[in-house]
Amino acid sequence: MVDDGVARVLSVLRSAVVIVDASGAVVRTTAAAHALGLVRDGALAHASIRDLVVRVRQDGAIRDAELDLPRGPMSKVMLRVSVRVAAMAPDLVCVLVDDLTQARRLEAIRRDFVVNVSHELKTPVGALTLLAEAVESAADEPDEVRRFATRMQSETTRLSRLVHEVIELSRVQVAGALEDLVIVDVDEVVAEAIDCEVTAADAKRVRLDLGGARGVRVSGDRSMLVTAVRNLVDNAIAYSADGTAVKVAVRAGDDVVEIAVVDEGIGIPADLQERVFERFFRVDPARSRDTGGTGLGLSIVKHVAADHGGDVTVWSQLGRGSTFTIRLPRAQTPGDDENPDGAEEVGSAGAPRPRPVDDPPRSEA
Ligand code: ADP
Repeated sequence: MVDDGVARVLSVLRSAVVIVDASGAVVRTTAAAHALGLVRDGALAHASIRDLVVRVRQDGAIRDAELDLPRGPMSKVMLRVSVRVAAMAPDLVCVLVDDLTQARRLEAIRRDFVVNVSHELKTPVGALTLLAEAVESAADEPDEVRRFATRMQSETTRLSRLVHEVIELSRVQVAGALEDLVIVDVDEVVAEAIDCEVTAADAKRVRLDLGGARGVRVSGDRSMLVTAVRNLVDNAIAYSADGTAVKVAVRAGDDVVEIAVVDEGIGIPADLQERVFERFFRVDPARSRDTGGTGLGLSIVKHVAADHGGDVTVWSQLGRGSTFTIRLPRAQTPGDDENPDGAEEVGSAGAPRPRPVDDPPRSEA
């Protein structure tokens, strides 16, 4: 039998441990072992672990293995575990199991990311090499040289945007990236994001409108929030036809602030709407290449929203347009009660109060 000391140690262990006797019956477990589904009907549930126990019992040597185990009797979901089996006492064998599923998944994601980034970098770098060669061989034809140089400029813009977004994404992906939380004025975030996009909007004659609640605050990182809203506005312009409108609307609930970016653009097919938040996913890679898209913008938005304790959702209809909504917890600050211009649902009091987009950003004061 398991002595009291061992039993006490087992009761405080976080790891999954199962102790079996000579008949294969389970005599002790930790809670984690049950959570992983290692024990069924008083015995070890998985034949592969039972085999290891038999072999340890034969020669007394410790066995280590990495195994894929089904999560439950009928489950197709597999767990990746590392197992160590050792003889403990004359009749007892101890099985220690570590769940590696999450760690292996993260490794795979990281590997994928590196492969994707290298692939994405190769395209503009390859194009630049070819263009440089073309310039060299067209050295005596000024018009050709000018044409190639223009294309080189757009490839370098794409390259620097990609590098910038990869860095941005790695920054927001770090858990706990928000270290210095400050109270941030949503009006300022939206105004700054719109300000950065005025040139892109003008180039396509897209009207930028702003409406909704004013004076709302959230707690977070101002520059990250500007990046998130900016990415949404940037997409709204890029995936809309010339002469359409893009609207940024702020809604304030008691506890939640919503920043919605609404366009009248091409829309996203229903079955792909969730996938647009994946890294490097593009509905139409060719079009995205034309617009200089990297496929990273929305995953940055998703991470920024999550880092702030919120989320981002999409509504879209092909040919009608899309609405991306960032939801964030609303910060309650003492100023809210005293400020006569404080947060209000402008929409509910009548017409929204649009602010011309070329207003200078309001002062930080
Ligand atoms: P990209 O840099 O390619 O725009 P994003 O991550 O920002 O990358 O967006 C991923 C994909 O989602 C885009 O390539 C595009 O196909 C689609 N998408 C994003 N925003 C919109 C929008 N407002 N309207 C239509 N499609 C959009």
